[in-house]
Amino acid sequence: MVVDGTSDLAIEPMVHSFGDGRASSVDRNLLGGKGSGLAEMSRLGIPVPPGLTITTDVCNAYFSDQRRFPSELADQVLLGLKQIEDISGATFGDSSNPLLLSVRSGARVSMPGMMDTILNLGLNDETAEGLANATGNARFAYDSYRRFVQMYGDVVMGVGKLTETDHDPFEVILNAKKSARNIQHDTDFSESDLRELVVEFKELIVLRSGESFPEDVTEQLWGAIGAVFESWETPRAVSYRSMNGYSSDWGTAVNVQAMVFGNFGNDSGTGVLFTRNPSTGENRLFGEYLINAQGEDVVAGIRTPQPLLRESGTSSGGNSLEELMPEVFAELAKACDLLETSFHDMQDIEFTMQQGKLWILQARSGKRSGAAMVKICADLVEEGILSQSDALNRLDPNQLNEMLHPVFKQPIEHEVIASGLAAAPGAAVGVVVFSPTDVARLVSEGSDVILVRDETSPEDIDGMNLAKGILTARGGMTSHAAVVARGMGLPCVTGCNDLRIDYKNSRFSIEGADGTLVVKEGDVISIDGGTGEVILGAAPLMEAVPPAEYDKIMTWVDASRSLKIRANADTPDDARKAREFGAEGIGLCRTEHMFFGSDRIHSVRKMILAGDNVERINALEELLPHQREDFTGILRAMSGFPVTIRLLDPPLHEFLPQSRSEIEHLAVALNISVTELTSRVHALEEVNPMLGHRGVRLAVTYPEIYEMQTRAIIEAACDLTSEGVDVEPEIMIPLVGLGSELEQLRALVQETATTVLLERGCAIDFLVGTMIEVPRACVVAGEISEHADFFSFGTNDLTQTTFGFSRDDVGKFLPDYLEKGILVSDPFVQIDRPGVGGLIVQAVEAGRKQKPNLKMGICGEHGGDPSSIYFCHSIGLDYVSASPYRVPIARLAAAQAAIEFSI
Ligand code: PEP
Ligand code: MG
Repeated sequence: MVVDGTSDLAIEPMVHSFGDGRASSVDRNLLGGKGSGLAEMSRLGIPVPPGLTITTDVCNAYFSDQRRFPSELADQVLLGLKQIEDISGATFGDSSNPLLLSVRSGARVSMPGMMDTILNLGLNDETAEGLANATGNARFAYDSYRRFVQMYGDVVMGVGKLTETDHDPFEVILNAKKSARNIQHDTDFSESDLRELVVEFKELIVLRSGESFPEDVTEQLWGAIGAVFESWETPRAVSYRSMNGYSSDWGTAVNVQAMVFGNFGNDSGTGVLFTRNPSTGENRLFGEYLINAQGEDVVAGIRTPQPLLRESGTSSGGNSLEELMPEVFAELAKACDLLETSFHDMQDIEFTMQQGKLWILQARSGKRSGAAMVKICADLVEEGILSQSDALNRLDPNQLNEMLHPVFKQPIEHEVIASGLAAAPGAAVGVVVFSPTDVARLVSEGSDVILVRDETSPEDIDGMNLAKGILTARGGMTSHAAVVARGMGLPCVTGCNDLRIDYKNSRFSIEGADGTLVVKEGDVISIDGGTGEVILGAAPLMEAVPPAEYDKIMTWVDASRSLKIRANADTPDDARKAREFGAEGIGLCRTEHMFFGSDRIHSVRKMILAGDNVERINALEELLPHQREDFTGILRAMSGFPVTIRLLDPPLHEFLPQSRSEIEHLAVALNISVTELTSRVHALEEVNPMLGHRGVRLAVTYPEIYEMQTRAIIEAACDLTSEGVDVEPEIMIPLVGLGSELEQLRALVQETATTVLLERGCAIDFLVGTMIEVPRACVVAGEISEHADFFSFGTNDLTQTTFGFSRDDVGKFLPDYLEKGILVSDPFVQIDRPGVGGLIVQAVEAGRKQKPNLKMGICGEHGGDPSSIYFCHSIGLDYVSASPYRVPIARLAAAQAAIEFSI
């Protein structure tokens, strides 16, 4: 046990105490976010109920020793408990003045709602009576007791809903009693109702679990500690970790803390707040509270909470904390300022008032929308709370996504059928679905869906993640749905009170002046998480407008990074979009996409299925003007920046005619019979097309294809140069594995280009380089570099060929690899550093040894992934190329990498 850094045990302490203005200073990874926040708050003199934290190491030890607690733990917990008793003046299990405890999880990063909490622990028939006598408030004592039995029954003894659409069995009992008593709210129960509920809950537990609720308080404590550890491995926590890339080795800490009571009466209450608005970033307290309530009541959405600030203008306006309890409010506002300046970030705070005394139960960095993230960072720098580089490091690159995605076109002409709270910004259109399982089913069938629930709970996490948006009938701005959706960057509307959901018949209804509107599963709705509107039908979408601070932040980003950011773009429109997002060139223009255009696929097919060279060259001549036009458009859109154009890559069979009518049409054009054409089509089929006749191999067999493409590029460049447009074409040969392949193809490209330049009397600077996307190319990169002006790592194919995993079929087994921990992340998303990364490093070193100024970058999908971008920076690449919408993300990730390397 350690307090203020003193240790009375020789071994690593497993338990750390806090409270009464004291706490030891211990690594956050051991105490978890909540534990280290409580310790820090205690040291800052913020009113925190005393408690102890069991470290994350103990969680790992528990799982590695067959779910047994380490033998030293019990003594250390007892010592910590003694200190809580000393500070609070109450005794655990005492029948006259019982100490009650909360037991909560706390991993190193916040995982809102993913793990379990137990409140009011330490109550049994005897201590409940003692609490009633000690406080002179039997109603309060039995309200706390029924809540404890309910939570313990659910979390520790596993008595809960049987199916997704089932109702919570404890709530069923509660609701039955409310109906029997003809009352509406929990607060209307009498003391005897609450006593009866305790008995009925205990009977339910025996009926459903076969075991009795434990009266022994020590047994309760260990049951709760074990349950919190177990909650680290629940399916919802496991999915949340894998969605966010958190390691299962981190474990959770357990915080055991003296209870304070928000359900003591009308001078008590509980609330949650953000120190700034988590949707917009505005610097104003943002939160809600409930009088005479405890713990989860505010976020559970059972009663509609009241606003903190006077002018919040919510439906329950007039009952703000600022007006009703001005002193508590002032103390709370002061604590918020202190917490922001100490933790250098916007905080998400849970507080309780017990008989007019404020207690802060938790403070952590708050989840926020992308727009709020940008504004808060810029403001914290202006306010002198953060340095520019610290501010940039706190931005989550992936969250920029939200600001770059579409919103609804205004004015919305479709019918607004209901309104709720604008809980998480963004616009979403999809079919209505009422259960997370149905979300998965419909998404797998290709639909966009909106998940509609009374309220969401942590079990719904997978369905929420797949949905395009979330709509709930109940719950406030800090409800589970709101917090989780904001974290995921999903549009969300909560507290849409007009919705009457009928799960059984898969529909919801809304009473209106013109009668009842019924919306069924499968009907399309649109939701606007920025206004709270629910719209019938598919409202048209348009581009989003980022917050005013976005440009300022991106200027800091660009000044901090050294990696150049290019875009993968195949059309002039994509190129323009990429430039708007800040791309400094095109790193990959895939020319095959141009071949599928309706005005040229016929010529492409004639070229592929030509009987001889003459026919092939004729077909290529038909294609030349189209290609020249494509390249003119893209080079013009990217004027002043380099454009890497990759010559044809995919296996030719991808372009073959499929239907009978296409074959007949083509047979006429080629002047051959359908039978002859069909046999030529069969001849082009391949067993392993991705390892087949593609990339540079096509040009070895049919050099005239690359000749035509080179001619089109150089002619386009000449035309544009004569117009005064600044062009920088880079011609790229795909799938090279041999120095000699590149040597021959480079010569072909050079000769063709020279011919065109002579014909046109024009001078253009252009580069000829190669993709590095098979392992052999990495191994012989030195030899290949002799013929290359640049290397572009095609990490999609390089991952495919290094692992021997087909990139198109990996979905069939990759989930098993991830679930079993064989792989920690999807190598097609995040570069596999030891394997694929090792090959890239080898190629970079060999290439640079041969040619110190060889330009190098990557253009696989990894070019938009922050962790892979970090890797690219670390090995000294010149650029990464990402899809246009990921360009801002890549800019930020590159800045963060540069900042981290400079520290
Ligand atoms: C790659 O293989 O990484 C690449 C960019 O090329 P493609 O995805 O077109 O095969
Ligand atoms: Mg490739």
